Amino acid sequence: LADKLQGALGKLKSKGKLTEKDVKDAMREVKLALLEADVNFKVVKDFVKKVQERCVGQEVMESLTPAQHVIKIVNEELTSLMGDVQSKVMISSKPPTVIMMVGLQGAGKTTTSGKLGGYFKKQGKRPLLVACDVYRPAAIKQLQVVGEKLDIPVFNMGDKESPVNIAKAGLSHAIKNNNDLVIIDTAGRLHVDEVLMDELKSIKSEVKPHEILLVVDSMTGQDAVNVAESFNEALGVDGVVLTKLDGDTRGGAALSIRAVTQKPIKFIGMGEKLDDLEPFYPDRMASRILGMGDILSLIEKAQENMDLEKAKELEQKIKKQDLDFEDFLTQMEQIQNMGPLDKIMGMIPGMGSLKDQLGDVDLNGKEMNRTKAIIQSMTADERRDPALLNASRKKRIAKGSGTSVQDVNRLIKQFNEMKKMMKMFTGSQKSMKKRGGFA
Ligand code: GDP
Ligand code: MG
Repeated sequence: LADKLQGALGKLKSKGKLTEKDVKDAMREVKLALLEADVNFKVVKDFVKKVQERCVGQEVMESLTPAQHVIKIVNEELTSLMGDVQSKVMISSKPPTVIMMVGLQGAGKTTTSGKLGGYFKKQGKRPLLVACDVYRPAAIKQLQVVGEKLDIPVFNMGDKESPVNIAKAGLSHAIKNNNDLVIIDTAGRLHVDEVLMDELKSIKSEVKPHEILLVVDSMTGQDAVNVAESFNEALGVDGVVLTKLDGDTRGGAALSIRAVTQKPIKFIGMGEKLDDLEPFYPDRMASRILGMGDILSLIEKAQENMDLEKAKELEQKIKKQDLDFEDFLTQMEQIQNMGPLDKIMGMIPGMGSLKDQLGDVDLNGKEMNRTKAIIQSMTADERRDPALLNASRKKRIAKGSGTSVQDVNRLIKQFNEMKKMMKMFTGSQKSMKKRGGFA
């Protein structure tokens, strides 16, 4: 989405004064980009209309930098679409604060319950996690493992008791033990159904939570929005946690949910690890979607430390997806001058998971030198076309670099993984859908 929007708006930049037609053309592209990103149709229509109205206004057309003005307006409207200001979780003045987590199966309730507990624990709260999913096998165990990792107590009564009773007992337990925050992890279902809603309603009326947080999977795009609407209608929710944003390159759910349900996104899940949770800031998300802020800081960083020409070349190659080992080597050498790789990766939109993949590779130390040795032992042809690397070539390379064939294989695997990732991030929207974005 970021690329498409940048493309649409970039065209304006090359123009001096804008005509109404310029703006209209750009807005048509913005509209297509948003639709392709699986943003709700009505939301797109309203959005484009609003932006267009503002853009053909006096101020923009007569400004010296009309394109910048248009971009600014798009940015502002994207922000307002997502709610303008950050919405916090309500903390009750009369503890314990009770948060009830709801959502479909696999959305990330249990993980997010833990993440939230950890988040508030860091702020000095004493959370208690309550295990109310008595249906999914090992659901209780899963929450216990999460609690253990975070050193947060988990209340459970096994899977024979009813979720309503567990929630009630959990609340009493919290009061007795001086826990000022209770997070109730509930069961989900594959689809929204009445049995699920009835159970959630009973828990709600019994424990009267201060917050009902709906957890939805951003990768499911518009389905996530539909789910949010159903839950909100049946149960009434106070806010949304949008998970798996680390794997979502479209941003459709993030953009539509607030506009469709009128409920704010309060947190976003950015990975499987228990500290991969961030408060949701509409303005930052808008910049991320527009792909400006982060890209800018990346370019700045690169300019400081990188050979500019080479950086440009690399960018082209990433776009064309024909990265080879020669680039890998150049890149590694440049990266060694740039600082921690994970930081750099973090600044490229959508590269979060690649960062995790490379997580345990120490790219600045010994490992890096070994990798360099392996690539340097390849012939030019082999570097350009890794498919050439058969068993005997691998043996030769291992010998030449003072490593083992396993090392060579591992590097090839890493390299392919990286290529695959790049393909995913630069690839077509369609391939994202094929990967199972829709449940
Ligand atoms: P529940 O059925 O709603 O309780 O969902 P779980 O908490 O069990 O999560 C389902 C899967 O999604 C697990 O494999 C989690 O690790 C994963 N998951 C949850 N949140 C995130 C996230 O923000 N990013 C990624 N990449 N995975 C997540
Ligand atoms: Mg669960």
